[in-house]
Amino acid sequence: MTTLFGQTLSQLQEFCLSEGFPKFTAKQLCDWMYHKRVNDFNSMTNLSLKIRARLNEIALVGRHDPVDCQVSVDGTKKYLFAIRNSESEIQNYIESVYIPDGDRATLCVSCQMGCKMGCRFCVTGKQGFHGSLTAGEILNQIFSIPDSEQLTNVVFMGMGEPLDNYDAIKQTLEVLTSEWGLGWSPHRLTVSTVGITPMLKRLIDETQCHIAVSLHNPFPDERAEIMPMQKMYPIAGIVDLLKKYNWYGQRRISFEYTMFRGINDDINHASELARLLRGLHCRVNLIRFHSSPDTPYRTSDERTMTAFEDYLNNHGIICTIRASRGEDIMAACGLLAGKKKN
Ligand code: SF4
Repeated sequence: MTTLFGQTLSQLQEFCLSEGFPKFTAKQLCDWMYHKRVNDFNSMTNLSLKIRARLNEIALVGRHDPVDCQVSVDGTKKYLFAIRNSESEIQNYIESVYIPDGDRATLCVSCQMGCKMGCRFCVTGKQGFHGSLTAGEILNQIFSIPDSEQLTNVVFMGMGEPLDNYDAIKQTLEVLTSEWGLGWSPHRLTVSTVGITPMLKRLIDETQCHIAVSLHNPFPDERAEIMPMQKMYPIAGIVDLLKKYNWYGQRRISFEYTMFRGINDDINHASELARLLRGLHCRVNLIRFHSSPDTPYRTSDERTMTAFEDYLNNHGIICTIRASRGEDIMAACGLLAGKKKN
C-alpha cells in the first residue's frame, strides 16, 4: 500500500498519472489531506467513486493518532507516537512536545528514531540510531495531535538530527509552507542542527526557515568532548559559513547553549563565545541542563547563568535564558527517550 499523507503536490501528480487518474486529482488529494485534514478516501466526496475504490485498494492516507500523552504541571504535553514497519508492526516509538505559551503554541517534533550524533549529555543520543522518519511520519506528529489547529510554530528539535534526514525535512517544510499544503510562513518553523556543514548550506540555500545551531561550547577541544560531531564539522567552519550570509531581515539564526556546571559556564567561555560570534547577526539561547539518570553533568546555578547572559548582552550578542518546560514529564530539551509507559 502506498502512503499518500506527507507527499508533495508533484509526487501526488506523478502517482495520479501512473494510476490513470486526472492530474487535478492530486490537488484534490492535497486539499482533503492538508486543508480539510481528512484521513480516509471515502470522505473525499469530489473524487469519483471509481477513483475512491481504486485508492482504497492500493493506498492509504496514513495518519495515526498518538498512543499516549503525558501532561506537565506547566501545561506542556508529551505525545508518544508508534512508528510501524511495512507489515504494520510497531517498530519503535518517538515523542513530540506541545508547548503552549500565551498566544503561541509550539510543537517540538522528532525526525529520527534515536540519533547517530552521540552528544554525551542527551538521552536520545544514548539510545543509538534506529532509523529515520519519513516526511509523512514527521508531518503526522503535527497533524495528529488533538491541539494541532492551535499550533503557531513548529521546531525540529526533538529526537534525531534533522540534517541527517535532510530530504524528509525538506519535503516536510514544502508541505508546511506551500499553498496546497498548510500554507504557513517559513518563519513559523525552526530547524535545529549540530551543524552538518554541507547540509546546513543546503538548508540555508533551499529553504527560508529559521535555523538554530547547537553550540554548547566555543572551545573546539571541549566541544568535541560533549559533541563528537565537532571533530567532523568544527564550530569555526559552521560559524564561517553562517557569516557568509546576510541574516538581517525576517530570517533568524540562533545558537543553543546548554549550561553545564563547571564545564562551559564561566566568563572565559562567554568571552570566547562573544569573540566567535562577533560580526554575525544572531542570538544565543541559554538552556538549563536537565539532569537524567546516568549523566555526570549538572546544570549551572541561576547566578552563573545570569552573569553569562549579561556578559554576552554587554558584548554585542543578544542573549536570553530560555524558560524550562515539561521537566516533570521528561519533555524538556535532551530528555526525549521515545519510551512507552507500562
Ligand atoms: S542533542 Fe540532538 S543531535 Fe545530539 S544526540 Fe541528542 S538528539 Fe542527537
